[in-house]
Amino acid sequence: MIRIPFEHSYATQLPQACAAANPDKPSAPHLLYWHATLAGELGLGSSGVDDATLAALFSGAQLPAGAQPVAQVYAGHQFGGYSPQLGDGRALLLGEVVDTAGQRRDIAFKGSGRTPFSRRGDGKAAVGPMLRELIIGEAMHALGIPTTRALAVVATGDTVYRDRPLPGAVLTRVAASHIRVGTFEYFANRGDDTTLRQLAAYTLQRHYPQLQHAANPYLAMLEAVCQRQASLVAQWLHAGFIHGVMNTDNMTLSGETIDYGPCAFMDTYDPATVFSSIDERGRYAYGNQPAIAQWNLARLAEALLPLLDAASMDDAVAQATGVIHGFQAYYQQAWLAQARRKLGLTDAQEDDLVLAEDWLLMLHRQRVDFTLAWRYLADVLDGHSARLAALFAQPDVLQAWLARWQARLAVSGQPVAQVAGSMRAANPLYIARNHLVEEALAAASEYGDMALAQQLLAVLAQPYAERPGLERYALPASAELARGYRTF
Ligand code: AMP
Ligand code: MG
Ligand code: MG
Repeated sequence: MIRIPFEHSYATQLPQACAAANPDKPSAPHLLYWHATLAGELGLGSSGVDDATLAALFSGAQLPAGAQPVAQVYAGHQFGGYSPQLGDGRALLLGEVVDTAGQRRDIAFKGSGRTPFSRRGDGKAAVGPMLRELIIGEAMHALGIPTTRALAVVATGDTVYRDRPLPGAVLTRVAASHIRVGTFEYFANRGDDTTLRQLAAYTLQRHYPQLQHAANPYLAMLEAVCQRQASLVAQWLHAGFIHGVMNTDNMTLSGETIDYGPCAFMDTYDPATVFSSIDERGRYAYGNQPAIAQWNLARLAEALLPLLDAASMDDAVAQATGVIHGFQAYYQQAWLAQARRKLGLTDAQEDDLVLAEDWLLMLHRQRVDFTLAWRYLADVLDGHSARLAALFAQPDVLQAWLARWQARLAVSGQPVAQVAGSMRAANPLYIARNHLVEEALAAASEYGDMALAQQLLAVLAQPYAERPGLERYALPASAELARGYRTF
């Protein structure tokens, strides 16, 4: 039998920030996915537990012992407009566990039915989007990008109605926490400074304990969140990742990527890339993500104003503004440091930013596949640049840039073989390509067949290790398949 040592620090310490609710009972729960490795990390003794039991426990059919489900309340700026109350409309926090590394992690259902915050929604989720969350989350994790993860996906046997009837599912999400920028906005907007202060104290203790004794702890926390988000978004851009819905309710204080909806990885490099069908104006386009992160953090800063140690409101605003302006420098630093690793540079030179930007400009102008260009760059050091050159419409422009890059590498003076190796450890070959994700979701959704999803997960678990026989997973979709790709 599985035993989950649940704790309930959030519900106990912040009762005003959540409401008790129960998951719906699924009519025929069927286990689609169980993450045994993650279960081990969480210290859940689940080996030998059969699929039917796991399906019951992680679908709402039979709550795991010790779970005390609550829906969390939050607000949020959605596409720039403020919604004073959102909250978990289809999610329930079951509790927290302290994992084998000593980290407190939330365990939550998504798609388990209506809650007090469901508004007009049905509280449900479909198999396809829940598997997308699983697959993209695992791909991000394997790339070393902070992310929530899926412990289980269970088909409920019920139908959910979207633009057409779809099979329903419940995903069990594991997160450092579910505290969002929107959680702070909710209490600040209502003028509930008491709960706001309790929430801030809780967040500080859980995510930034080293700052509890700082002179101005909530200013320090704001700065630390800015640094984590700057680093996170820099990693997104280097992976070609587009979140799709960077509303303030989808941005965590922990610095993890959360709420995988219409997200996707870019093939051809173009900063204006948008996949989400609801992002008509491209607010959350690939290249806008750093600026949007900063905009969201400014909303967090506003919410924290009453908690800052300041002589006056003007002083508080000046402090917070200073920190928010600092985001750009944090972002630039994080982005450039990773760009250097991807370029094989072990030292820092003044012109590195220009070198990296010129590379990207060339990828953009020649409409080159982002992931393969970075990956094949290391080939040049082994003396065969054919795969790389084949990606470019104008190889002479590429050659001119390669000459600059190689001259720069010579300044670093590292052994070429070593540089090639470290570049391949910084530039993935396998990303969650849209057509691969779609075919895996379709097979699972239409036929309950998880084979393609499992294969894709296995490939994505080792994104840097080129393996024979996996060519199909490395290559972009045909232009025909890629044209007009939309996520929902
Ligand atoms: P998202 O942009 O997907 O993170 O969701 C925005 C808000 O809508 C959150 O408060 C969600 O809980 C809520 N929501 C999304 N889908 C549903 C649904 N099917 N039923 C109820 N609430 C939902
Ligand atoms: Mg959300
Ligand atoms: Mg969501």
